[in-house]
Amino acid sequence: MNRKTLKLVENKKMNKIKVGIPRALHYYRYFPFWKKLLEEMDVEIILSIQTNKKIVETGVQQGFGELCIPMKIYYGHVLYLINNHPDLDFIFVPRYIAEVKEAFFCPKFLSLPDVIKILPNIPKILNFEVNVKEFPISYSIIELGKQLGLSSSRSLEAYNRAKVYHQQYLNFLREGSTVNHALRLVSRDLPFKLPKKKPDNKIRLLLLGHGYNLFDTFINLDFQKKLSDRQVDVLTIENMPESIFRTPVIVNKKLRNYWRHEEEIMQAIRYFLRTGRNEIDGVIFLISFACGPDSLISELIMRDMKVVGLPYLAIIMDEHSGEAGMLTRIESFVEMIKRKKKKIELESQQEKSKIRV
Ligand code: SF4
Repeated sequence: MNRKTLKLVENKKMNKIKVGIPRALHYYRYFPFWKKLLEEMDVEIILSIQTNKKIVETGVQQGFGELCIPMKIYYGHVLYLINNHPDLDFIFVPRYIAEVKEAFFCPKFLSLPDVIKILPNIPKILNFEVNVKEFPISYSIIELGKQLGLSSSRSLEAYNRAKVYHQQYLNFLREGSTVNHALRLVSRDLPFKLPKKKPDNKIRLLLLGHGYNLFDTFINLDFQKKLSDRQVDVLTIENMPESIFRTPVIVNKKLRNYWRHEEEIMQAIRYFLRTGRNEIDGVIFLISFACGPDSLISELIMRDMKVVGLPYLAIIMDEHSGEAGMLTRIESFVEMIKRKKKKIELESQQEKSKIRV
């Protein structure tokens, strides 16, 4: 019997509460924390499968027209869980409002449990509301535990263990792991270990965007693989040191960004405008069609990139994005960077030879 089957048999015997987690939206940001927390609360987790064509199609049918694609995909994952796991006791649909006092999450996250609970045949929703502007996270944890029949002290113990594990996960990303590699290890309960290092490529790009756009390989048409096939190294903000995210970005006296994830993107960009200018050769921003927060900051980033002369490409994705169009854009962007680098190298060689003469 393999490890997975053993675990299932064990869970059956212990009659654990079954909770479904949709592999979408904040899954790409918090899954290690949720997994550890819920497992410490004695829950059996059922994770939906990787996004596929059917999940996207069912989500698109359910989501109304102008909704962004990540939300439609979320619907698809919830419906997958409803249709394939009728024995679930709960579906975990957290409501993330604010995890720091200075910023909010996008309004779509604020209303997530309300829009999901109207789906047909949905099991009970396991609520977890994070809003540190109103109450500490320990309060949210205790409320979560109550729904599972746990005492406050038991829930807080689980929280402390989940916090430690999540910190280890974040450190692992900062050591250079990709999010997808780290999530794979988390799902399989394996220790954090970096894969063998490949030789460094000549081009290094910063890839910006929400986790659900960057790491859901179905919806982004395996974007990162396309870059690595072209000998491009990719950096995402998850790999950057924590210190970069401590200072808020003031665009100007009248304009401050209040969106949590967009603020992190702007902080990363500020770093590359100053100290880290020579650490990357260009920036790509993957944006979902109909995403208000991202389209606003994309404009600001474009202006910043012009000032420092860093190549910048914004790609807008939706359910109709095609492979050929995406490839053409990547190829021309990478080619343009290669030529630019060659030109700079040539000029500096000429400069050096002039000095020698
Ligand atoms: S931030 Fe943009 S892509 Fe994400 S849920 Fe909100 S509108 Fe959709």
